[in-house]
Amino acid sequence: MPAIDPDDYTVEELTDELETIDDADDLQAIFEAEQAGQDRTTAREAIQDRLEEIGAADGEHGDTEAGEAAATDGGDADDESEPEGEDAEEDDDLSRPTRDKKHVRALEDGEYADMWVFCETQGGELLDVSTEMLGKARELMDGFEEDYGDDEDVVAFLMGDDCEGLAEECIAYGADVAVYHDDERLERFLHKPYTEIAAHMARGKGTVESTDWRDYDEPRYILFPATNNGRDLSAKVQAELDSGLASDCSDLFIEAEEVSNPVKTGEPGVKKTFEKVLHMKRPDFSGFEYSTILCLDNPGREFHPQGCSVIPGSFEPMERDPDREGLVVEHDMNLDDDWFRVEITDHDRLEAGIDLTGHDVIVCLGRGIADDPTEGMELGLELVDAFDDAALGITRGIVTSSYQFEGHVESYSNEERQIGETGQVVAPDVYIAAGVSGAVQHKVGMDESDTIVAINTDPDARIRDFSDYFIEGDLFEVLPRLTEAVESDGLGLEPEAVADGGDE
Ligand SMILES: Cc1cc2nc3c(=O)[nH]c(=O)nc-3n(C[C@H](O)[C@H](O)[C@H](O)COP(=O)(O)OP(=O)(O)OC[C@H]3O[C@@H](n4cnc5c(N)ncnc54)[C@H](O)[C@@H]3O)c2cc1C
Repeated sequence: MPAIDPDDYTVEELTDELETIDDADDLQAIFEAEQAGQDRTTAREAIQDRLEEIGAADGEHGDTEAGEAAATDGGDADDESEPEGEDAEEDDDLSRPTRDKKHVRALEDGEYADMWVFCETQGGELLDVSTEMLGKARELMDGFEEDYGDDEDVVAFLMGDDCEGLAEECIAYGADVAVYHDDERLERFLHKPYTEIAAHMARGKGTVESTDWRDYDEPRYILFPATNNGRDLSAKVQAELDSGLASDCSDLFIEAEEVSNPVKTGEPGVKKTFEKVLHMKRPDFSGFEYSTILCLDNPGREFHPQGCSVIPGSFEPMERDPDREGLVVEHDMNLDDDWFRVEITDHDRLEAGIDLTGHDVIVCLGRGIADDPTEGMELGLELVDAFDDAALGITRGIVTSSYQFEGHVESYSNEERQIGETGQVVAPDVYIAAGVSGAVQHKVGMDESDTIVAINTDPDARIRDFSDYFIEGDLFEVLPRLTEAVESDGLGLEPEAVADGGDE
């Protein structure tokens, strides 16, 4: 009889249990029992790893079946080209880093529910992104109820100085519950106390006024804003809760997902369906490809809370309803003085800089000016001057380029004119984008414009998908003709009036 019956354990549990067994014969017996039973590749490997750890696999027990199997199998018995010796060991380590991860602690039979939304505030107001996330969370959890029949809540959580009124605002914008922590020292974001409080709230620990509304261990989902503070907080809180994070997401949906990756299912060739998975879509490769991130971990547990940060402007807030009913809960917790070692003794508001909002027209230049950056900028500025009320904007592509601008145009190339997710958000009557590809991070800063005109040499440029007028052409030729047209009789916005080959 083996010391333990491996069939009674998941691979993860078995791996832990093996740590207590130091006898090579016992381990060999467990190995044989596994072979005779479920014969899981991952379980056999775990036993072999343990044999190696106690120094038995290559030594006196080097001839054991377990030793042989691991020496030839390496997780894929059919692969005859497995590297040997030292290389084999290195390769094997690299091939399964996630499965061997030891630092994640699953909650024993953890219960998870609700969608939590961190509602960031500034100057005594909710940031727009906070209400946008509440709107999306409302939509997702209404859908959740329809799909699964479970009535789970949208829970807003926030902290600050005198923020009870803002917690009530969160209810008006779609939350069922708003948990807030008031302390005058929390007026501004400080990452240590904000992290401690957020994790404390999420775990439902401490002297929360009333816990009647929750009977679970941790939130099922958490959304944070992808702002400077939100990005900082999201990573810290998710790490505190032993979970993962998808950053800078711009779309979310909840669905079941069938997964065949053996790292997640525990067995090669086995499919497993994970339920209620938050699918978190984020732009990658400079915004030209979307990845969908899932927070799934090894067999036996899933990462919880499934969390992400959300790009401002990605979602619509719901219409404010001051009559909406919900529960506002004050959170209480001892805040360690040590968490406030950073003291803000004075603060100042930066000079407003360039404000691109409120103009009738924005002319935005992108990396299409690369052939002659100075000339490109000058052509853009001439078009700006032709309008009564226009301003020049640029893409981040220009801000981060190493173009050498000559003369006064240099001053138009810095970040304060950047339009997009990490720049300004504008919505003029007319937005003229010249040499701009239309990455999603740019799009979120301008797609509310009434009329979008794009000038691009590439007829398949992404910006074409959300432009009202697309002029296929070289901006060095098109911009002067546009300027001429505007100066003579205004902008008719008929593409054929300004360039050949234009179409809608
Ligand atoms: C976290 C994050 C935040 C970001 N925030 C922002 C942001 O706020 N704002 C932003 O803009 N970007 C942002 N970006 C960068 C963004 O992903 C793109 O890389 C950037 O917008 C591309 O700039 P572009 O369109 O000028 O350059 P490119 O993508 O290089 O496009 C240049 C375009 O010009 C066209 N072209 C070339 N020559 C000509 C010519 N002679 N005439 C006409 N057309 C021509 C090309 O066909 C191409 O479509 C961010 C990225 C990340 C990861």
